[in-house]
Amino acid sequence: MSMLYVKCKTCKLEFASGMNFDKKSFETAILRGNYHTCPKGHTRQYEKKDYYFKE
Ligand SMILES: [Zn+2]
Repeated sequence: MSMLYVKCKTCKLEFASGMNFDKKSFETAILRGNYHTCPKGHTRQYEKKDYYFKE
């Protein structure tokens, strides 16, 4: 399992989404309409294309 990261759509700050995924199962997972709040307090909705793994 690996942490999925997103970049804040407001301030571009990268932060951990709090969602852990197996890299293989993420490829076929259906993710939509997930809200996350960045460390600066911006709450935005993120879709699958917004998530990525950090090596
Ligand atoms: Zn932000």
